[in-house]
Amino acid sequence: MAAPMDNLLGVKHIILVLSGKGGVGKSTVSSQLAAGLVKSGKKVGLLDIDLCGPSIPRMMNLEGRDVHQCSQGWVPVFADPEQNLGIMSVGFLLGSKDDPVVWRGPKKNAMIKQFLTDVYWQDLDYLIIDTPPGTSDEHIAVVEGLKAYKPDGAVLVTTPQAVAVGDVRRELTFCRKTGVPIIGIIENMSGFVCPNCTECTNIFSSGGGKALSEQCKVPFLGCIPIDPKLTQCAEEGKSFLERFSSSGARDAVQSILQQI
Ligand code: ADP
Repeated sequence: MAAPMDNLLGVKHIILVLSGKGGVGKSTVSSQLAAGLVKSGKKVGLLDIDLCGPSIPRMMNLEGRDVHQCSQGWVPVFADPEQNLGIMSVGFLLGSKDDPVVWRGPKKNAMIKQFLTDVYWQDLDYLIIDTPPGTSDEHIAVVEGLKAYKPDGAVLVTTPQAVAVGDVRRELTFCRKTGVPIIGIIENMSGFVCPNCTECTNIFSSGGGKALSEQCKVPFLGCIPIDPKLTQCAEEGKSFLERFSSSGARDAVQSILQQI
């Protein structure tokens, strides 16, 4: 019998996106990174392993789309006509977007394993993996499943507040314990730039991500300000690919490319 096809062999770089808690913008940052890399001419895959809260299909305006099978495995759903951004998410496999995923650890592990082996990405420059918040079964499963492929590392997302920053510290420890290199920290929702007068208001406290990166001696990848248009895109699932306009996100992508 022929050996199963290794669908990750054609992937040049693998980046995990982690956050200590939900709601800090991990899926937003994952989508922005993916969009930014596509804009800079790369072929990108975005794998959403947030099994209980998959938000990537909605953010990419792909809700309701089906995943097809080919002889090499699942064909990802493409976000653009040029097929430079392929997406895979449990959200595409659920009967309805309102169906909850009520799975115990072993079933989640099996799903992650299948995502890592069965998605036919073809040749990719980057595979971005959006993980659930915290350090749970999914994280251990993905790190173990990726060991042989030597992922480039993890991007940690935080908001500026001390509570969120404290949670990122645990992510740093998780990465160190599991041997995942740390690409750096992104501070999301870092101030609000008034569209009228361009004054920046730090709605939350400021500088927490940068201070943590200095304390923990990991690169600081940059700040992404609060952009109401970004929220609107995520809410309405409108052309998220087009909304890669926040200068913070652009700078963060450049910093990541310099680190790997
Ligand atoms: P997580 O994946 O960490 O749970 P999400 O990426 O789903 O967080 O973001 C949570 C909410 O915050 C979403 O409604 C998203 O649109 C919004 N959001 C995240 N980052 C930003 C930002 N920089 N500017 C505006 N809205 C944002």
